[in-house]
Amino acid sequence: MKNLYSQLPAIDNLLRDPALQTLLTDAGTALTTRQLRAMQQEAREHIRLHQTLPDWHANWPQEAQRRVQQQQQSALRPVFNLTGTVLHTNLGRAQLSEHAIAAVDACLRQPVTLEYALDDATRGHRDRAVSKLLCELTGAEAACIVNNNAAAVLLMLASLAPGREVIVSRGELVEIGGAFRIPDVMRQAGCQLVEVGTTNRTHVKDYQGAIGEQTGLLMKVHTSNYHIEGFTHAVTEQELVTLGEAHQLPVITDLGSGSLIDMTAYGLPAEPMPQQLIAAGVSLVSFSGDKLLGGPQAGIIVGKQALIDQLQLHPLKRALRVDKMTLAALEATLQLYRQPETLQEALPTLRQLTRSSHAILQQAERLMPALEQTYGGEFSLAIAACSSQIGSGSLPVERLPSFAITFAPHNGHGGQLNALAQRWRHLPRPVIGRIQEGKLWLDLRCLEDEAALIRTLVP
Ligand SMILES: *Cc1c(COP(=O)(O)O)cnc(C)c1O
Repeated sequence: MKNLYSQLPAIDNLLRDPALQTLLTDAGTALTTRQLRAMQQEAREHIRLHQTLPDWHANWPQEAQRRVQQQQQSALRPVFNLTGTVLHTNLGRAQLSEHAIAAVDACLRQPVTLEYALDDATRGHRDRAVSKLLCELTGAEAACIVNNNAAAVLLMLASLAPGREVIVSRGELVEIGGAFRIPDVMRQAGCQLVEVGTTNRTHVKDYQGAIGEQTGLLMKVHTSNYHIEGFTHAVTEQELVTLGEAHQLPVITDLGSGSLIDMTAYGLPAEPMPQQLIAAGVSLVSFSGDKLLGGPQAGIIVGKQALIDQLQLHPLKRALRVDKMTLAALEATLQLYRQPETLQEALPTLRQLTRSSHAILQQAERLMPALEQTYGGEFSLAIAACSSQIGSGSLPVERLPSFAITFAPHNGHGGQLNALAQRWRHLPRPVIGRIQEGKLWLDLRCLEDEAALIRTLVP
């Protein structure tokens, strides 16, 4: 035992080892020394527990280099999203346009007029550029930008109805995943929830009957992530606006995803548009920046000037405001919407959602031979029709026809499938598919860089 401990190299000697010089140059002395100390500690522990030296004892410099490199790798690893879900929340939702990426890059390299008015050198408002675009695109009077749509809902409620009652249909008390539940947000905002109607049917008279002295707001929530079918009835925004006007109550809508364009014009399922609700007279509409809009994470609120002013002055706005990177990316994304002719090509979210199944099939056929050659020994590969989904709670029941390459183990072992999925998750650029019906599916809808996938999967 003693003997084993004495075989551990001294840090000073290791630092002079020629094999360690590359690491020293790349990572510096402090980081390298810290790593070597940690390894020494680990080696001592290994000897104490197992009475042997660790496997890597044979090559300390190489092991140190491997460990430092691993630690320096970003925790935000670029991956191939072949799950078939375009707006995958766990994979960062919308992929930004080149235009937005360039805008962020530029705003980080030099000082920018974030809150500075060039006309008279006075303090400007950080939301102004984006507000102007949003008003042009939605027909709203004003806009307010916060960290995400959850923050937008919180800010609308806390600013407009503190200590008051907010009337919502029982069919719209949704949970959006994570801890975002309408009743909880309501409580956090200091509002009192008044539920009306039933799960499947709510009428104008239900809202009307609930209006009283304490009522502060009428609210609608877009039930984005689930769908009720059959004997149902919901009140339209238009009807709620008429009711609100009669009682001088603002009407707000949490739209969730929202789309600034008519999705059906691109052959996609319909999704409510903020501009329709603004036209219907809704006071405030909120939606996400990184869902169908295809921009950065943000919460966008558009609507009446007087109410937006109220939001802008609320202390929570300061806590929920976005930074220049978000504003730059959002502004650049919205600029794309001003040129509808090029939007489909320029906006990755729309480009991926609208890819034809025929183009995806052709891509699968191009990829098959190389994959077959590498994986055909262990798995039987096939091209199979599948359904992609939009994701992020948008249009949960709608599916987009797509194609996948499927991998089924020759011996029918599920374990082999999990092992393959795991192996792909540990590639330098991990490949994320989905396991279903005893096969591993790679839905190619979101695959744009075909050559990169081949380089990754075919050694
Ligand atoms: C997605 C969603 C939210 C939350 O939006 P984030 O931008 O993720 O915070 C809130 N409400 C609805 C209806 C949603 O669909």
